[in-house]
Amino acid sequence: MAIPTPKPAWLDADLELLADNATRFFTRECLPHQARWREQRRGDRDIWLKAGAAGLLCASIPEEYGGGGGHFGHEVAITQAHAHSLAGGFSNGVHSVIVAHYILRYGTEAQKRRWLPKMASGETVAAIAMTEPGAGSDLQAIRTSARRDGDSYVINGAKTFITNGYHADLICIVCRTSDAPGAKGLSLVMAEVKDLPGFRRGRLLDKMGQHTIDTCELFFDDMRVPVEDLLGTDEGQGFRQLMEQLPRERLIIAVGGVATLERAVQETLAYVLERKVYGQPLMAMQNTRFVLAECQTLTTVARCFVDDCVRRALTDELDLATAAMAKWWVTDTVGKVVDACLQLFGGYGYMNEYPICRIFADQRVGRIYGGSNEVMKELIARAMERT
Ligand SMILES: Cc1cc2nc3c(=O)[nH]c(=O)nc-3n(C[C@H](O)[C@H](O)[C@H](O)COP(=O)(O)OP(=O)(O)OC[C@H]3O[C@@H](n4cnc5c(N)ncnc54)[C@H](O)[C@@H]3O)c2cc1C
Repeated sequence: MAIPTPKPAWLDADLELLADNATRFFTRECLPHQARWREQRRGDRDIWLKAGAAGLLCASIPEEYGGGGGHFGHEVAITQAHAHSLAGGFSNGVHSVIVAHYILRYGTEAQKRRWLPKMASGETVAAIAMTEPGAGSDLQAIRTSARRDGDSYVINGAKTFITNGYHADLICIVCRTSDAPGAKGLSLVMAEVKDLPGFRRGRLLDKMGQHTIDTCELFFDDMRVPVEDLLGTDEGQGFRQLMEQLPRERLIIAVGGVATLERAVQETLAYVLERKVYGQPLMAMQNTRFVLAECQTLTTVARCFVDDCVRRALTDELDLATAAMAKWWVTDTVGKVVDACLQLFGGYGYMNEYPICRIFADQRVGRIYGGSNEVMKELIARAMERT
């Protein structure tokens, strides 16, 4: 048994029940399909409908828009259960925590009523398309353009690394609606892409890990969307909108990271208690004991820090720099802990059939996406300069 950490005050009975239900769902509906999903590099489309029926999509969106009527704590409970189960299959984080909240925060009443209920049921899958071949960390270098022509935007450009990109029906596209330089010309335009002329999905990208989640290139070639599908009332607000929402997005990556740490330590402890070397359990070796003690300590520290960030997020007190700290430190710690755990498995740790091997490959991207860890440190340093 790994050592339990203190229960945070925000984790009430309702959230614990939700986490249990979510764990049962991922175990029943996702785990049996892992091998096939890995092979095809994506989950099946119907997992979205099943997750919607189980109340796992848009849990923090008000009931009047078809959501679960919960708060950020509900997303945390689901995200932890998902990460801990190693079930993959789809990115609820992008769909429910990111895109649904852009719509809730910046959408018109008509947009909320049009998109959110179908996202909550899983009929609509959402993605966010920021990254381009020439613009990753530096979002101000985005070139995808949305030129106004009558009642339409005519969108041209290419996006890459887009999570949920294969299944997505609704894509939040970060694009330029004017020639204003840098951040000023950026807007968020929603595109309903099913059968939309000028829209094309590229290949499913062949990633190092996270093989059950679809990641795609997207291409827009004179793709027309109605002007009313701009998110928010004015053009040029995209960069500000992105900056406002980023703390929660980064925190949810850290939340998943803590669950990964807990699972990695749990798997490793079980293995070293069982595995015999020189006639005794691996756990009897002092090195094993010290390594695991360090991993458990780091996991506990990460859990306490992230729980405190969640508490702050629930009261709207989570600042950009603290969220950046959580994102970089937790994902960095996951890398170190999982590497140390894998070593204790010896050659078995290098075999895909062992969960620790898949965790090792799946977690690596945590230091890259959601804003790379170097960018997180830059944000923290800027906040330090200002104080
Ligand atoms: C599996 C996966 C899923 C993704 N999902 C999405 C998605 O759904 N939607 C989306 O829009 N994007 C997505 N991304 C893209 C991801 O957000 C970018 O890869 C990330 O922002 C980094 O951009 P880049 O790859 O262009 O690297 P670059 O920006 O080229 O960075 C290269 C290196 O330079 C460093 N660097 C950059 N700027 C600085 C700086 N100022 N100071 C110091 N070092 C710096 C970086 O940290 C990195 O180490 C995904 C990526 C992956 C791998």
